[in-house]
Amino acid sequence: DAVQRFQDHLRSSPPPLAYIESVAVQPMPVQGATQFTIVHSETQAQAGTLVSPDVCICDDCLRELFDPANRRYRYPFINCTHCGPRFTIIRDVPYDRPLTTMAVFPMCPDCLAEYENMLNRRFHAQPNACPVCGPRVWLQTGDTVLQSADAAIQEAQRQLVSGAILAVKGIGGFHLACEATSDAALERLRERKGRVAKPFAVMMRDLEIVRQYAEVSDAEAALLTSRERPIVLLRKKPAAGLSDQVAPGNTHIGVMLPYTPLHYLLIGTTPLVMTSGNLSGEPIAYDNAEAQRRLAPLVDAFLLHNRDIYVPCDDSVVRSFRGVELPIRRSRGYAPFPVKLPFMASPVLAAGGELKNTFCLLRDEFAFMSQHIGDMENLETLDAFERAVAHFKTLFHAEPMLLVCDQHPRYLASQWARRTAARDGVPLVEVQHHHAHIAAVMAEHGDPGERPVIGVCFDGTGYGTDGAIWGGEVLIADYRGFRRAAHLKYVPLPGGDSTVRHPSRLALAYLWAAGLDWDARLAPVAANTEAERRVFRRQLDTGFNAVPTSSMGRLFDAAAALAGVRQTITYEAQAAIEFEALFDDGIADSYPFTLVEPAAPDAPLIIDPAPCIAAIVDDVQRGVPPSTIAARFHNAAADIVARVVVYSREREGLNRVALSGGVFQNVVLLARTLDRLARHGFEVYTHQKVPPNDGGLALGQAVIGWKSLPENA
Ligand code: ZN
Ligand code: ZN
Ligand code: FE
Repeated sequence: DAVQRFQDHLRSSPPPLAYIESVAVQPMPVQGATQFTIVHSETQAQAGTLVSPDVCICDDCLRELFDPANRRYRYPFINCTHCGPRFTIIRDVPYDRPLTTMAVFPMCPDCLAEYENMLNRRFHAQPNACPVCGPRVWLQTGDTVLQSADAAIQEAQRQLVSGAILAVKGIGGFHLACEATSDAALERLRERKGRVAKPFAVMMRDLEIVRQYAEVSDAEAALLTSRERPIVLLRKKPAAGLSDQVAPGNTHIGVMLPYTPLHYLLIGTTPLVMTSGNLSGEPIAYDNAEAQRRLAPLVDAFLLHNRDIYVPCDDSVVRSFRGVELPIRRSRGYAPFPVKLPFMASPVLAAGGELKNTFCLLRDEFAFMSQHIGDMENLETLDAFERAVAHFKTLFHAEPMLLVCDQHPRYLASQWARRTAARDGVPLVEVQHHHAHIAAVMAEHGDPGERPVIGVCFDGTGYGTDGAIWGGEVLIADYRGFRRAAHLKYVPLPGGDSTVRHPSRLALAYLWAAGLDWDARLAPVAANTEAERRVFRRQLDTGFNAVPTSSMGRLFDAAAALAGVRQTITYEAQAAIEFEALFDDGIADSYPFTLVEPAAPDAPLIIDPAPCIAAIVDDVQRGVPPSTIAARFHNAAADIVARVVVYSREREGLNRVALSGGVFQNVVLLARTLDRLARHGFEVYTHQKVPPNDGGLALGQAVIGWKSLPENA
């Protein structure tokens, strides 16, 4: 009876952090034991153990934190078996205190008694601690140090109120904090951090306060209060009192609730900007000495503690789409929880992409996605990447027998993979960028890959098999390969990266490709001097230094520029994000695209945006408002998906569509596309576990790499 009850309990009310994959029952004779005991971890048996992500403070600990009678009253490191840091403090497995950064804090008798008592909430809570024996907080302002936690936190609060910027050490790294209602503080933060307009995340004390500043659906409330505590993108309420500098030009703000006891002690009713503690482009700071060196020019004071962070981990970012999670950045709270695969794999390591890099390690039936590493554009980030790879190999006892990377010749992650494969004598598979995106969304849905899908990948940039920049692609794809069924017509883009920062020049290129005049009344034309235009036209005419591109992301940028929304950008996809924000829900009509049938039977269908560009120019010249243009353009992009996949279904007999690529973070486009595909009776995969942007790329790479081995085909 007891055993039966135990089984029932295990299924119906497991411990809060338990994740039950399956329950297998096998009768066996009792061997020696006479009672129920929990025995010590044995390293050998632990090779298959999963590692828990970091978990926000639980309700019980939160109650104790503010209970004056509790011995941990206002103790910033209170935690229990149900909550607290995990992934970021673990050096090695098995997950036991000596193998975490808590090893340097021997437990006091009270803590040890809890730790050893099976009936206590802190039984085997590895980060268990109290004010007597555990880590502590202090505030450093210049050369002045406030050692008492209460005094330090109160002084930190006082400084925040007076407009200071603080470096606050958290679970996965440092935040830069200031009051989100202060224009002056935010202007200083933007200037010091070198971040012109990219939105900052805001921490708010509780849901009630969030509702003062933003619209919150039930699904969004569930995401905000989940134990992962991600940053959730919410629709701003107008004139609610946040500084416009938090998210300039955005209809949405990224909001998170506090997730550590220190956050709860620090935050009041005023929302705080809490942005990653780094200079733009660098990885997040997580070590005290390093943070004091790197962040000193950015902040007025440091709120520090002495619980070391072994692994840096940025905050995660999600959106809610039709009640379902749409990941934008999968990191703290999620990593390294695996995505379950529809097959078993030997260790494979996929290096990921260039921007928003994550890597992926396959082992057994799991794909372990790394935390957000960052934009691999400098050696600091490459360094963080190498450290994280080494750590994953340790944690999951996996030595890759295969490396996988993007085909791009210059991605730092690809170069790393090529070097490492050559050095270690491990085979390497290079995967086409958009094929990897499609495989990622298939894999997260557990698709066994027996039949191809119609993969629609709308993306910013990716290296094509012909050396062009792809990104408006329809691929008939499975894990083993793909065929390009359709793509946006190539437009030459002279000037590379600098052109991407100037949507006005993208617009000039699309006008040129469509055979349209550069009428000086058009905003993107006026944004360039006559001399600049002359040089640019010569580059277009001669094709000098110009790479042909079929990117849907670039087409969005060009359309936004033509509509007068934005001519230069300071962060990735800024023009497209502001264009999406303008969208007028009441507009149902759209712009035309031309589909050009291929001459050769196996050549791809060409999607020519020329008539769409011409129609936008017409609308602009007739004074049609940008909100209408934005709506018609989004509708047009959704229409073209529907037309092309219907065309592909007729030719291929396939009914399953997979949507991926960074452009599908745009929920206006996603919603319109899904509506059309539903009307045509398609089955559709969209991203729910890994991001549609390059943060999800490594999953697809890893799966394609594994399936490319002849023995797995
Ligand atoms: Zn707890
Ligand atoms: Zn203690
Ligand atoms: Fe991509």
